[in-house]
Amino acid sequence: MEVTNHERIHADDRNLCKLAISELEGIYSELGLSMEELDLLDMPRRSFIVHFPVRMDTGKIKMFVGFRVQYNDARGPAKGGIRFHPDLTLDHVRDLSFLMALKCAVVNIPFGGSKGGVVVNPKGLSRNELEQVTRGYIRAIANHIGPFIDIPAPDVYTDEKIMVWILDEYERIKGEHVFAVVTGKPVELGGSKARSYSTSLGGIYVLEEAMKRMDMDKFEVSIAVQGFGNVGENAARILYEKGYKVIAVSDSKGGIINKDGLDIQAVMEHKGRTGSVVDFEGSTNITNEELLTCECDILIPAALSDQLNKDNAQNVRAKIVLELANAPTTKEADDIFFDKKIILIPDALANAGGVVVSYFEWIQNLNNDYWEEDKVRERLKKTMITAFNEVRLLCDEKSCRMRKSAYQLAIKRILHAERLRGNL
Ligand code: GLU
Repeated sequence: MEVTNHERIHADDRNLCKLAISELEGIYSELGLSMEELDLLDMPRRSFIVHFPVRMDTGKIKMFVGFRVQYNDARGPAKGGIRFHPDLTLDHVRDLSFLMALKCAVVNIPFGGSKGGVVVNPKGLSRNELEQVTRGYIRAIANHIGPFIDIPAPDVYTDEKIMVWILDEYERIKGEHVFAVVTGKPVELGGSKARSYSTSLGGIYVLEEAMKRMDMDKFEVSIAVQGFGNVGENAARILYEKGYKVIAVSDSKGGIINKDGLDIQAVMEHKGRTGSVVDFEGSTNITNEELLTCECDILIPAALSDQLNKDNAQNVRAKIVLELANAPTTKEADDIFFDKKIILIPDALANAGGVVVSYFEWIQNLNNDYWEEDKVRERLKKTMITAFNEVRLLCDEKSCRMRKSAYQLAIKRILHAERLRGNL
C-alpha cells in the first residue's frame, strides 16, 4: 500500500517522541531525579477519552472517539494543538502533550502542555461533516478547556477554519465571547498578526543569534533548505528578503541548487505554476539527499523526520543545522554532529515560534488589544533569543549537545514550578 504524506506526517511525530523519550531517559539519570520527581514527570495530570455522535450527510448517526491529554500544567494553563488523524491513539497524544510541556518550558512561556484530537480521516469527510465532528468534539470536552485551563490550537490536519468552529461552539456553550479559548484563529477573528509564518521566523531569530556567536557574516554564508511546505518556504522567503544567499531548496519531488544564490520569489512563482521547485531556470536539479550534504554553511531541514542519519551525517558540511522540522536528526547523527563540532539547534527550540505567537494571541485576546506586526515580531525575537542564550549557557557549562540542554532546562523549570506549588 502506498504511504501517503498524511501517514508520513503522523509517523514523523512518533519518531519525534522516540527521540525525545530516549534523550529524556539519559537526562533523568544525569539530573539525579528522585523517585517522586520521576513519578510526577511520568504521568499526565488528566487524560480524557470522549465518544460523541455526529449526524453524517447520509442522515445516519456515527460515533467518533476523541482525546485530550493535559500532561502538565504547573507553569500555567495547558497548551497544545488538536489533530484529526485516523491512526491517533491515546498513547501518542500523551507523548505529544509531554513534548508540548517541554517546548513551552524551553521558551519560558507561562503554559503547560497538552494535545488532543479525533480519530478520523478528515479527507473522507464533507465540509459539513468536518464541522459537525469539530463541534461534537468540543461539546464533549468543553468543560475541560478554557482560557485559564487548556487552550487548543491547530496541529496536523486542522487549520484556521476549524479553530473558528471551536471558538464558535465554545462560545455558544458558555453564552459569551471567549476569544482566548483557542489560538491559531484568522486575524479577522482574534488571531495574531505574524502567526502564519511564526515558526519559520522564530527559527531564523535563533539562527542569527547562533551566527553572531560564531562570528559568521550574513553576506558570506550560504544556506540550504530542505522542504518547501509552509515552514520551509517561509524560511527560504524570509532569509532571501533579509539578503541571505539561499543556494538550495527542495520539495518531495526533488531539489535545485545554484551556488550564486536562488531568487526565492521566482522559485515560489515557479512552484505555483508547476507544482514543484524542480527544473527552475538557472539552477541545477539535485536530489534531496544531495541537498543535505551539499557545500553550504547552514542547513535547514524543514521537511520530514529522520532525514539526517548515520548514513549521511558524516558527509554533512554545514556548520549549523537548524531543525525546523520535527525530529529530522536521528540520535546517531546527533552524536556525529557533536563530534564534528556542527552546531545543532534542536526542534524543541528551533520550531517553538508557533506556540510563542499563540501565547501572544492569547494575551491580545485577554486584553482585547491587538498588536502591530512589528510588535509581534519584536517580542518573538526577544523570546527566542533569550531561550537560545539560556540553552546555550547550559550547553557551555556542561559541554553537551543543545538538545540535551534544552530538555534539561525544561525539566528543571517544570519541577521548580511543582516544587513552588508544594507538589514536591
Ligand atoms: N501544534 C503546534 C505545536 O505543536 C502549535 C501549538 C500551539 O500553538 O498551541 O507546536
